[in-house]
Amino acid sequence: MIENFSLRLTNWYNYNKRALPWRETNDSYAIWLSEVILQQTRVDQGMAYYQRFLSLWPTVVSLASASEQEVLLQWQGLGYYSRARNLLHTARLVVEQHQGHFPDSYEELIKLKGIGPYTAAAIASIAFNKPHAVVDGNVQRVLSRLFGVTEPIDSPQGKKAVESIALQAIQGVDPATHNQAMMEFGALQCVPKSPDCHHCVFKNQCFAFSKGKVADLPLKTKKTKVVTRFFNYFIAIWHQQSHTFTAIQQRLESDIWKGLFEFPLIETSQEVEFEELIQSDDFNQIFDKQTFTLVRRSEVHKHQLTHRRIMARFYHLHFEQPPVFLDEKNVFLIVDNDFSIYPLPRLIDRYLQQNV
Ligand code: SF4
Repeated sequence: MIENFSLRLTNWYNYNKRALPWRETNDSYAIWLSEVILQQTRVDQGMAYYQRFLSLWPTVVSLASASEQEVLLQWQGLGYYSRARNLLHTARLVVEQHQGHFPDSYEELIKLKGIGPYTAAAIASIAFNKPHAVVDGNVQRVLSRLFGVTEPIDSPQGKKAVESIALQAIQGVDPATHNQAMMEFGALQCVPKSPDCHHCVFKNQCFAFSKGKVADLPLKTKKTKVVTRFFNYFIAIWHQQSHTFTAIQQRLESDIWKGLFEFPLIETSQEVEFEELIQSDDFNQIFDKQTFTLVRRSEVHKHQLTHRRIMARFYHLHFEQPPVFLDEKNVFLIVDNDFSIYPLPRLIDRYLQQNV
């Protein structure tokens, strides 16, 4: 089956593929951009990001000269902001070390920070037609179902088994078309839940279908542990004449949302009453015992990330005097709620749209 697998797969692809802009180009920069964005979101949402990035920064050289804040702002809504920072870092490395051209070999591509095996294989194969097989969660699912990989795909054995099949399958065929066909097959046909196996071109050869194991494969050992975190945000407002000043701060911690902007925050290990919060050292370090009025206390807003559940509550505080903030907390005032140049986590952006 492995011998004619690619031929049947690419036949399916030629008939079923979606018209997507990154399929019309062999520009390594555009292909890289599309891969990084698509690791983060679905095609329909990713399209707008791809087009916006390309129109703002049509070349890797132009992207390399953008600021981190500009890139984070355009990435807003996609999550995993370290990917956006890596995107910029990689663009700068391509300019500094490769004169603004992506290297054409997998070995050189993988040396660039922010480019992992999947992206390196995608660029090497799609832009430079090199026989490197892409292996991501989609490909692992398709190959383990089709060829009956029963070891967990997050174990070294399972990973190796899938990679070995992927490598065999790409030999002697057009690497660019083969890899794109694999991705499209995983996205459209062999989908995670309830694939339409009765109308699949591989239904007569597929291990999982013939053994009734479609819902069981791919097998995984690790269960992702979700940690709950409690964020207490303070929307500190001060009015002067006809203007409103609001305190925001840049998040500097490396855990989530690094470099993005949010309201002054106290994180707690459980839900804590407002009275307790305002007596804490953390609160006084931000607001330095200044006088305020609590004008509103929001409901808890639940925000789900891959490994974390954020329970956020927003306290609207009104200050009579201009609040002064200690520098090390990185807090400053913005005028009339003009957040437009600040990249915001989706939780904050949503709250602002609905409540401020
Ligand atoms: S028969 Fe079903 S499980 Fe097998 S490859 Fe096709 S869609 Fe996937």
